[in-house]
Amino acid sequence: MKTSEKFSKYVLPTYGRFGITPSHAKGTEFWDTEGKRYLDFCTGIAVCSLGHSHPAIVETVKKQSEKLMHCSNLYLIEEQADLAEIIVEECVKYPGKVFFSNSGAEANDGLIKTARRYGHTKPKENGEPRIEIISFKNSFHGRTMGSMFATGQDVIHDRFTPIPEGYKHLPLNDIKALKDGITEDSVAILIEPIQGEGGVNPATPEFLREINNLCKQHDLLLFFDEVQVGFGRCGDLMAWKRIAPEIQPDGIAWAKGMGGGIPIGSFFLSDRAIDNSNTTLSSLMGPKSHGSTYGGNPLSCAVAITTLRTIIDRNLSGKALQDEQYIRDLFKKWSHPAIDQLTGMGLLLGIKINAKELKVPEGSTAALAICIKLNELGLLTVPAGADTLRWLPPLNVQRNEIDEAFFMFKEAIKALT
Ligand code: PLP
Repeated sequence: MKTSEKFSKYVLPTYGRFGITPSHAKGTEFWDTEGKRYLDFCTGIAVCSLGHSHPAIVETVKKQSEKLMHCSNLYLIEEQADLAEIIVEECVKYPGKVFFSNSGAEANDGLIKTARRYGHTKPKENGEPRIEIISFKNSFHGRTMGSMFATGQDVIHDRFTPIPEGYKHLPLNDIKALKDGITEDSVAILIEPIQGEGGVNPATPEFLREINNLCKQHDLLLFFDEVQVGFGRCGDLMAWKRIAPEIQPDGIAWAKGMGGGIPIGSFFLSDRAIDNSNTTLSSLMGPKSHGSTYGGNPLSCAVAITTLRTIIDRNLSGKALQDEQYIRDLFKKWSHPAIDQLTGMGLLLGIKINAKELKVPEGSTAALAICIKLNELGLLTVPAGADTLRWLPPLNVQRNEIDEAFFMFKEAIKALT
């Protein structure tokens, strides 16, 4: 039976899949089972931050799996402590503590649970807990029952409604709507500094700063979802630091690029005091509050250490910043009417398409039509909404690979006009 037939017969059809069967990959290059070569500017949707089969990652997988692959969180896992230290001391850079999960959705669930604890610890005047989490339209926070309802897209909630009490979605970058939307039930604000899935939409500095002020004013927790944008992709180790670097969020969620291809996620909670007796926010998630069998196991943590060490030591976030400028210059010089603008930061770039300029097949979208054409030409990319195509190359992508991708992109646009 062919792989496609096995998919039809045995795999739940939750994804719209392209007809490509991956075989192997190295760096930015990727081959399918028919021997066709692609450049990978999708990277498993911002996961393979060092490209495929990076020698340091391969070496770590080999060494750590021979040494100790898994053990319970009942023990003091050395690699987990070392990874948490790197995240707090070298990435976040103010005191706090980390919990390790397996994915981004789970990391956000941890933040959502923390908000519940906070709402019980610091309730409304009548003593009832505050439970409302404010997030934003077009956001994406994951698919679990917690993170799915924080996600501000109706299509994600389709026939999973009713949305439970405690979720509110407001328009991004609309300060008035936010001010009007905060109530005595509100307890936290969860935001992607740059929306990824929802179309590569950055929060403005004014908006992030106003959120920060409003959180202080109304005693709300401020959470950043850096699952797609964190750990160097956007031209700084932490994406929010490119927008409003002085902000110190109470909680941060990560996954994707931190593991370089091994499943791992995490969330951070600040050690800041939340009352006069110096109770810290991080202490709210104490014994019995949360857990995960696999989260933070020695193998995934060892690989994440190698990934983060490489990103930090080689300054790949600085390189992402330079590559962003290089790509922006290519698009500027070309200046084609089918391209509205380039959004995003670093190596999370959204190419906003002027759909009117293209021949888009009936029932498709501009972004999907270009993506399919690029698959044919040999470049893997990923749509973000109907009119935005995302480029997410590895952080160590080479300039000649960017040139090759840009050439294929121009060819795709030519073919569709
Ligand atoms: N948050 C953001 C911003 C994401 O982009 C994603 C996945 O695309 C998630 C959360 C969910 O992560 P995961 O698929 O690892 O659960």
